[in-house]
Amino acid sequence: MTTITTKKPFEEVLGALKRVNKIAIVSCGSCAAMCQTGGTEGAKEMTEKLEKEGFTITIAIVSDEVCDNRVMIKDLRKIDEEIQESDAILNLSCGNGAQSILKVLSRKYPLKPVFSANDTQFIGMTERIGRFHQRCLGCGDCLLNETGGICPITTCAKALMNGPCGGMVDGKCEVGNYEKDCGWVLIYNRLKDLGQLENFSKLREPRDWSESGHQREVVWR
Ligand code: SF4
Ligand code: SF4
Repeated sequence: MTTITTKKPFEEVLGALKRVNKIAIVSCGSCAAMCQTGGTEGAKEMTEKLEKEGFTITIAIVSDEVCDNRVMIKDLRKIDEEIQESDAILNLSCGNGAQSILKVLSRKYPLKPVFSANDTQFIGMTERIGRFHQRCLGCGDCLLNETGGICPITTCAKALMNGPCGGMVDGKCEVGNYEKDCGWVLIYNRLKDLGQLENFSKLREPRDWSESGHQREVVWR
């Protein structure tokens, strides 16, 4: 499982940094390294680009997992002097990583801004470097046991509970101009192969999306 990120246009990053001069870069050695939006190469590239624009890079570090608060507490403590000297932190990981840095920094530097160089796209499955697929939205109430292991929420363009809809033609989905397979046809075929078509006929109630809303947490101790 990888959090898939893409690089923001450099101009947009520059726009966010317009009020700062000294920057500490925190790059992720895990998911973002895999997406080539972080890691050692990403940190080096960003350092060079920003220095060319006249910024001072106080330090650039690569952390094992920026989204893990425990790693950030350890790594940010090691560069405390440089953080103190910096006007801002530039995050080369995902949105979770940026907020992990913010949470840790807020203890000692509540007003130190954390900017992001990346856009977070989705939680993804990796086929190979440069080819990632969204297969789960983390809805909180997994249906895979009923749908032959194919997720209707990410595979059906309308996240329907009881497909296919009237927009399916020859197994293709109307959304995206019939280029992609209809998720519900994939589910039907899979359930048929598995001898589980009773799951296809089952009527599912509209989903209660309130359970998949904001500020979700899993706390078990
Ligand atoms: S139903 Fe789909 S989105 Fe929900 S948890 Fe399962 S795989 Fe993820
Ligand atoms: S055609 Fe299939 S995948 Fe597309 S929206 Fe309708 S049910 Fe979903």
